[in-house]
Amino acid sequence: MSVSEIELIVEGADSPAEGGATFERHDPMTGAIASRAAAGTPEDARRAAASAGAAFADWSQTGPGARRKILLKAADLMEERVAEFTDLMLRETGATRPWAGFNVMLGAGMLREAAALTTQITGEVIPSDKPGVLSMAVRQPAGVVLGMAPWNAPVILGVRAVATPLACGNTVILRGSETCPGTHRLIVQTLNDAGLPPGVANYVTNAPQDAAAVVEALIAHPAVRRINFTGSTHVGRIIAKLAAEELKPVLLELGGKAPLIVLDDADLDQAVDAAAFGAFMNQGQICMSTERIIVDAAVADAFVAKLAAKAAALPAGDPRGDVVLGSLVDAKAAERMEALIADAKAKGATLAAGGGVDGSVVEATLIDGVTPEMRIYAEESFGPVKSIIRVDGVDEAVRVANDTEYGLSSAVFGRDVTRALAVAKRLETGICHVNGPTVADEPQMPFGGTKASGHGRFGGRQGIDAFTETRWITIEGAQHYPF
Ligand code: NAD
Repeated sequence: MSVSEIELIVEGADSPAEGGATFERHDPMTGAIASRAAAGTPEDARRAAASAGAAFADWSQTGPGARRKILLKAADLMEERVAEFTDLMLRETGATRPWAGFNVMLGAGMLREAAALTTQITGEVIPSDKPGVLSMAVRQPAGVVLGMAPWNAPVILGVRAVATPLACGNTVILRGSETCPGTHRLIVQTLNDAGLPPGVANYVTNAPQDAAAVVEALIAHPAVRRINFTGSTHVGRIIAKLAAEELKPVLLELGGKAPLIVLDDADLDQAVDAAAFGAFMNQGQICMSTERIIVDAAVADAFVAKLAAKAAALPAGDPRGDVVLGSLVDAKAAERMEALIADAKAKGATLAAGGGVDGSVVEATLIDGVTPEMRIYAEESFGPVKSIIRVDGVDEAVRVANDTEYGLSSAVFGRDVTRALAVAKRLETGICHVNGPTVADEPQMPFGGTKASGHGRFGGRQGIDAFTETRWITIEGAQHYPF
């Protein structure tokens, strides 16, 4: 098995970390070294920020056609490299091939959407009370954008962190995850191979123990003007505080505890398929994963029986094999699943499906009869262990769905669509799908959460708002002044 040697990318060139230190990422399934990556230091972070800062002057002046051409080329290149991305994702994160393939497809789609946005960075002319004055709101690139992405959907979220910022004329630094330094690096390499001038896209990695110092140096660098972070709510709060200290806007995409509500008139087969997909895709390690299945008592027995049968039939194992569930990110995550299951069982819940744990592999698991005293009721499992909560009627379903600190995605199943839509409107989440799964993403959609799931939106025109500076510019003529 090969080991990927991962360097930083600064000023368009590969670079070891200052002092040459490295760290290793191990394959969670085999234990073999998956990649050996540069352990960047705060000085490396400043070097990358200076590189992006220097490249901004020219890149910010390019026309939309030039930026679009490179982004489209990068999308094609990304698709050509699907085997390379897949190999890295399997080894670094334990993901399955279909998940890796979907990551590359959506990542390429995000680059194409970003390419399309280059001509949508428009402003407006605003009527002025001063005679003869032309008054405009003009959008301009903000400067260097720092993007930080997690390992769970590494291509999608790594691309998301930089694509729209680049389309808007910003230069970028991608701070890669310690869990998938090779996968994240290949994104920046692909953008550079597509023709980005040196310094426009930079790549920094660090050893896990150096994360705080490196991230702090990046956020504090004067060239950095916008920050986006996708990861846990815990670290999101740290990033928000650092950004506040520097008075820099930050877009935060954090944890989730998505509810899927099954109303008494739901199409149960459709709801079962959506719940299984949303709960167990990528072993439940998606921010939008269906974490809580909230089902009306009138249909609960029938629904749970069907869903449990479906979950029990989903094969789990080595992601190189023919499985639906691959490996969790590490054995520690699997141990956490065991603890969540044991806690719920001790407090009166029953196991409707799964429960088996083998190393870093965990079966598709459903816990029925979950109550607020159990850890799984409130904690993001971020694994294939999901709760079922039985409720009486619409109002209780809404109350339970909103009884969480998180607010990213949600779903409502019901044949009376007007009634289901009324429920959707009452949910405190950034995203809600009526008769669809909680897990869904398209590049042009406004993506983001409420409450402890963060704030700000990626996607389509919302991304332009996030990664440009709106300026008020006027053209005036001779006029009378009071003195
Ligand atoms: P994490 O927050 O645990 O780690 C993210 C990064 O934070 C790490 O790479 C680490 O280097 C860094 N970090 C750790 N301590 C730090 C410190 N003191 N200062 C600065 N940086 C520090 O998250 P993760 O394990 O990479 O990802 C899983 C989480 O991401 C889940 O909670 C999931 O819900 C969330 N997520 C959200 C979205 C979304 O779009 N909302 C998408 C995917 C994942």
